[in-house]
Amino acid sequence: MSECTHDCGNCSANCGERQTPQSFLEAPHEGTTVHKVIGVVSGKGGVGKSMVTSLLAVLTNRAGYRTAVLDADITGPSIPTVFGLHDRAMGTEDGILPVVTPSGIKVMSLNLLIENETDPVVWRGPVIAGAVKQFWTDVLWGDVDYMFVDMPPGTGDVPLTVFQSLPLDGIVIVTSPQELVSMIVAKAVNMANMMDIPVLGIVENMAYFECPDCGKRHAIFGDSHVQAIAEQYGIPSIAQMPIDPKLAELADDGEIENVYGEWLDGLAEAIRG
Ligand code: ADP
Repeated sequence: MSECTHDCGNCSANCGERQTPQSFLEAPHEGTTVHKVIGVVSGKGGVGKSMVTSLLAVLTNRAGYRTAVLDADITGPSIPTVFGLHDRAMGTEDGILPVVTPSGIKVMSLNLLIENETDPVVWRGPVIAGAVKQFWTDVLWGDVDYMFVDMPPGTGDVPLTVFQSLPLDGIVIVTSPQELVSMIVAKAVNMANMMDIPVLGIVENMAYFECPDCGKRHAIFGDSHVQAIAEQYGIPSIAQMPIDPKLAELADDGEIENVYGEWLDGLAEAIRG
């Protein structure tokens, strides 16, 4: 090891001389001000993380706040699809311009940059994390009140690096009843605690099916334990969403901005609170 110059900015050693904690956080582009950054996480893919991220953005935008979505789920970028965005993002000499949805939400996703949106992304962890970092530093986001980040699924290396690269103000955990919910939540809570980021809420997606004929709710995957788990970890807000084929249809058709439901209203208000 070379002799200590007391310049902690260029040294990764965790010695007793360190004056300031090492920070991975990068500044956003000049001219960009993002007031609150909310990460949406899940234990695995396919539980509805992108659905919840986009619905929270839609509700926040409807409430009159300048809203953005950063799609950090690089290997499964479905945000452009649910908003019906198929044009590629444009750039200027200054940086990349986000694509704006019909209702005015700013979006950046890898699928808005690659030539063919069905091309697979076969990148290793550090490259994925680097791309997400660039979505934060090189995109001309402008003035944003709430940015929702569709995080990479899981609690491994890639989500951890993304956690460390973005100045998250809070996270929302999305689960589905098929998962080992208590373990998933414990891992997500631990990861958030490591980074001192509050867990604002938990969404149990596909919690029940409501019969279109009689309105009765059926817990297809058994009774929910999400309330008890939220209490155990002191998570202030919980929400449940039904399995709804209409919801899937609107999302797949790029019509997420035409979804009207009250499932996430309480959580969206809690985030703004
Ligand atoms: P993730 O981001 O966790 O990988 P998605 O949000 O992409 O998951 O959802 C996976 C699939 O499940 C999508 O086709 C989506 O439309 C569908 N889906 C998500 N939530 C629901 C729901 N509550 N009811 C019906 N379909 C849903």
